[in-house]
Amino acid sequence: MQVPCRQPQPRHPRPDGTGPPGHRIPRRRLAALACVTALTFTVSTSAGTGRLAPGASTAGAGPVTLSHTSAHGPCMIRSAREVQMSEGIPTSAGYTRSTGTVRALTLMIDFSDAPGEGDAQDRFHEFFPQTRDWFRTSSYGRLDYRPETPIPGWLRMPKSFREYGIERGAPFEPGYRALVEDLVAAADPKVDFRAYDLLNVLVTPNAGPSALDTVLSVTFAGNPEAPRADGKPVANASFVYSRQDDGSGSYDRTGYRVLPHENGHVFGLPDLYTAEGGGAVGHWDIMSEDWGANNDFLGWHKWKLGWLDAAQVHCAASPGTTEYALTPLALAGGSKLVFVPLDRRTGYAVELRTRAGNDEAVCRPGVLIYQVDAKVDTGMGPVTVIDSRRDSGGCTRAPNVHAELSDAPFTPGETFRDAARGITIEVAGAGAVGAAGAGGEGAYRVRVTRR
Ligand SMILES: [Zn+2]
Repeated sequence: MQVPCRQPQPRHPRPDGTGPPGHRIPRRRLAALACVTALTFTVSTSAGTGRLAPGASTAGAGPVTLSHTSAHGPCMIRSAREVQMSEGIPTSAGYTRSTGTVRALTLMIDFSDAPGEGDAQDRFHEFFPQTRDWFRTSSYGRLDYRPETPIPGWLRMPKSFREYGIERGAPFEPGYRALVEDLVAAADPKVDFRAYDLLNVLVTPNAGPSALDTVLSVTFAGNPEAPRADGKPVANASFVYSRQDDGSGSYDRTGYRVLPHENGHVFGLPDLYTAEGGGAVGHWDIMSEDWGANNDFLGWHKWKLGWLDAAQVHCAASPGTTEYALTPLALAGGSKLVFVPLDRRTGYAVELRTRAGNDEAVCRPGVLIYQVDAKVDTGMGPVTVIDSRRDSGGCTRAPNVHAELSDAPFTPGETFRDAARGITIEVAGAGAVGAAGAGGEGAYRVRVTRR
């Protein structure tokens, strides 16, 4: 079944005129939407044992086994049936497993009307090793992401780019189906598709429009109707076009970030930007903004992806006051996430964000509080960050970082109140604590009260 993609509008050039004259600076991610159904294409290989021998493939294991205890039950908010791709936990089956060794078949393709310029390996190196490193850092080493290029050069498609009719928001049928069928036919003599967990298609950047005008990059995740290769549907595939080069001179450092965003979809994560742009979550998750300075995943996503132990996640479901320690989300070890469930589908997440690891744009360290709603679909605002300083203009002028939410975190002495629901979240201070979770240097204490 093909699910049509909603298509957000391109963002206008920055009104503050930052960036070189004459460049259009996109302020947010533009167009990639995950079209999802539910089935896996993956052949799960066991971690660290090398490529599966032909015929030794196992059924796709789907997403990870979430680390939790019975105490986490009230915090495992569930998606509603009608939601295609949700923030619910656990992630539904059909997506690529997000822990252990994951093999990413990576093909560089070109066309007669857009012949690859230069070495296809240069295109590969626009995204690697950075994407692999990004996942290793974000996952605290739990995701061993291995890109492989069994076909090192450009793989020429039999039709011209124009003939496939690929446009922004183009659905899987008919253009992408034709493209995947042709790609499988061209690669199959040299590729055992069963050996891989996901597919990256790095399209020659001269095919299609500039990403400054229109972002074509897209992921089709959990699509059981996809063409089959070596007996399995190519159900989790990310396509990257053009270059997300804002002209600020940062492309070599930041241009790869579209790929971790697209791969976030194959692991089952929804888009957090909306038709209005990055104003719901700002630069606090790569599923919200993937242009500009590096950023990490939300703690909620890390739990969902299986990168946090049960002991690192606290479910604040009981009445009364409880104090918790939080250590910086970007650094390994310690207590990372407090979740305050509101009902079976929603709750508040609480985490400590500092400038470290993948979080390079943080200009105001502190406790980030956001509402997660598993009833809300991808691209419709399933996560909303609570801004501790509304209408402040924010603390950053970094290009492509949503400024207003950049100073959203709460600092020691500040309190978030949801009076209607009787919930108070107070940042009690920084420093070591003896409360739930490991404390130590760099930890913050938060006090959650609910009636
Ligand atoms: Zn996306």
